Amino acid sequence: MAYDLIVIGTGPGGYVCAIKAAQLGMKVAVVEKRSTFGGTCLNVGCIPSKALLHASEVFAHAKHGMEELGVEVSGTTLNLEKMMGHKDATVKSNVDGVAFLFKKNKIESFIGTGKIVAAGKVSVTAEDGTVQELETKNIVIATGSDVAGIPGVAVEIDEKVIVSSTGGIALEKVPGQMVVVGGGVIGLELGSVWSRLGAKVTVVEYLDNILGGMDGEVSKQFQRILAKQGIEFNLGAKVTGVEKTEAGAKVTFEPVKGGEAQTIEADVVLVATGRKPFTAGLGLEEAGVVLDNRGRVEIDHHYATNVAGIYAIGDVVKGPMLAHKAEDEGVALAEILAGQHGHVNYDVIPGVVYTQPEVASVGKTEEELKAAGAAYKVGKFPFMANGRARAMQATEGFVKVLADKETDRVLGVHIIGFGAGEMIHEAAVLMEFGGSSEDLGRTCHAHPTMSEAVKEAALATFFKPIHM
Ligand SMILES: Cc1cc2nc3c(=O)[nH]c(=O)nc-3n(C[C@H](O)[C@H](O)[C@H](O)COP(=O)(O)OP(=O)(O)OC[C@H]3O[C@@H](n4cnc5c(N)ncnc54)[C@H](O)[C@@H]3O)c2cc1C
Repeated sequence: MAYDLIVIGTGPGGYVCAIKAAQLGMKVAVVEKRSTFGGTCLNVGCIPSKALLHASEVFAHAKHGMEELGVEVSGTTLNLEKMMGHKDATVKSNVDGVAFLFKKNKIESFIGTGKIVAAGKVSVTAEDGTVQELETKNIVIATGSDVAGIPGVAVEIDEKVIVSSTGGIALEKVPGQMVVVGGGVIGLELGSVWSRLGAKVTVVEYLDNILGGMDGEVSKQFQRILAKQGIEFNLGAKVTGVEKTEAGAKVTFEPVKGGEAQTIEADVVLVATGRKPFTAGLGLEEAGVVLDNRGRVEIDHHYATNVAGIYAIGDVVKGPMLAHKAEDEGVALAEILAGQHGHVNYDVIPGVVYTQPEVASVGKTEEELKAAGAAYKVGKFPFMANGRARAMQATEGFVKVLADKETDRVLGVHIIGFGAGEMIHEAAVLMEFGGSSEDLGRTCHAHPTMSEAVKEAALATFFKPIHM
């Protein structure tokens, strides 16, 4: 057998699985159809979007946010081409980093479309049509996800006027009016980028709230903050048409509950309605690999499909479509294949929205606890009452801790505020160890930090906060 493991797809699931398996002594190859490694995340997802979020935030801050601090900046102008250059350079350094790690770990790579011929056999078709067949003990499907359209609406994405996130991170000029279809993480992050750079952004969302699935209180406050930043919202609105016009495009929508349709003209429409698992051309049907009713590769608790020797991880299987979830599955699966006890705790997977302020959460929302009939208690603390937040003029938002009423075990933590995406990890570690709100509240936190608000919210959960 040529390889112990062939991984198809080199996104965060695939490349991490390959590296971990090589570290554990396996002979590993990867197959990738893009010309660079790193998948959606490094090429067109997490990394480029964060490069633009950071750069646009600095621009917005220089334009509007510094005077109060006694820093007067005049003549701030946007050089979009340079900003895009920063994004491209960030992507390049990250994808090159994965290539370096493959070499370092003696992982062989094949550029081309991977197809499962049968258990133990993978063919790779290169761009010039040449086909190679590889043999392996195990195959991991890590082919990720692709842009989903709008259910029931035919939309032609040209990545110029009607764009997915891929076109949305590569616009050549700032649109006058941008309509974002979908008020989820990707729509709100990219909507924020273009709004900060000067676009008028209107979000059209089917649900009655943005960030469906996030804690309700957090979602409400977040919407108020984004509205203050200039983003407009049409919630409970069903998009019925997205069409190109001579001047740009138009989006038609109507209230979900029934009522009159409305049309908005836009220079750019960003379709951000979610992503779907990507399995096209993989030969799954011929190989007999079963998909679930949502087109995801069906797996058991050990990431095994119904065909012996074929496994799957990441966006192509159930669970949240997040890079760190894919990475942790990659590690767990490599350990399982090496005879160890790989495991992912799906109750403690943080989720972050990288806007300003950030939104971060881990564990259960209050709505989920209510629906499950759980007895819980809540503690909250606003950043308005945090000294460091005041010093930085970052007083928007709050921390919310949810704990079991009887045992005090922390069940969920939700933060909206500056640096929430970093602060959430102390909650994740606490929950990983089954900690209580008292544990968190009695842990000494450095002063003055934003994280003291996490401690205070924990104090509020098991007794009373000090600074309120
Ligand atoms: C704009 C945007 C922003 C995002 N931001 C974040 C974020 O901030 N944080 C976060 O956690 N997640 C974020 N995500 C989601 C994240 O990118 C995905 O969850 C993650 O990339 C999934 O990893 P994966 O390894 O499963 O698949 P992918 O990253 O999708 O990689 C799959 C790879 O498989 C390759 N492939 C597919 N079929 C074949 C084949 N037959 N042969 C060979 N190769 C094949 C593809 O070319 C691709 O490179 C974002 C996504 C987008 C679109």
